[in-house]
Amino acid sequence: MNENSCIFCKIVKKEIPAKIVYEDEKCLAFLDINPLALGHTLVVPKKHAKSIFDLDEEDAKHIFSIAKKICLKMKEKLGAEGVNLVQSSEEVAGQSIPHFHLHVIPRKSNDDLSDLVQWWRSKVKKVDEKQLEEIAKTIKLEEEQKEEKKEERSEEEIYWIRRETELA
Ligand code: AMP
Ligand code: ZN
Repeated sequence: MNENSCIFCKIVKKEIPAKIVYEDEKCLAFLDINPLALGHTLVVPKKHAKSIFDLDEEDAKHIFSIAKKICLKMKEKLGAEGVNLVQSSEEVAGQSIPHFHLHVIPRKSNDDLSDLVQWWRSKVKKVDEKQLEEIAKTIKLEEEQKEEKKEERSEEEIYWIRRETELA
């Protein structure tokens, strides 16, 4: 599926209708047509990205911050006592619409979705400490953390360069 035939791109372009909850230049939030609970919302980037793997980093941050605002609104207006944030990336993970979307699902103590977590618990794997240590080493973000530190330092350097220029 390319961007022209993508159903969520069509919703973004207003070529097909949706019940819009929030819109800005970067993202759109609208109601899921098959809600797990009343208010179940999808937050999507306006710029097409299939999954988390190709989602723009800034869009990722922005989508999460808008999702938080939606959660607070659900708490205030729908009486949500909790929320589930669900995101499936790629078919293997169950993604059915190939345009990144974050599900925001309001939860209440007496709703019929508690088996969501029961299912999760039934799938928990037995692991020993050595396995945990190995896997943590394997996916540790060492290089990325170094890069972040470098970026932080360069922002600090820019500050000092600015100061020196101002004082000169
Ligand atoms: P996923 O299975 O995580 O890819 O979720 C796709 C979601 O998109 C499902 O929950 C669908 O109900 C929802 N969906 C599909 N088409 C539309 C549409 N036209 N408007 C709103 N939600 C949609
Ligand atoms: Zn799209």
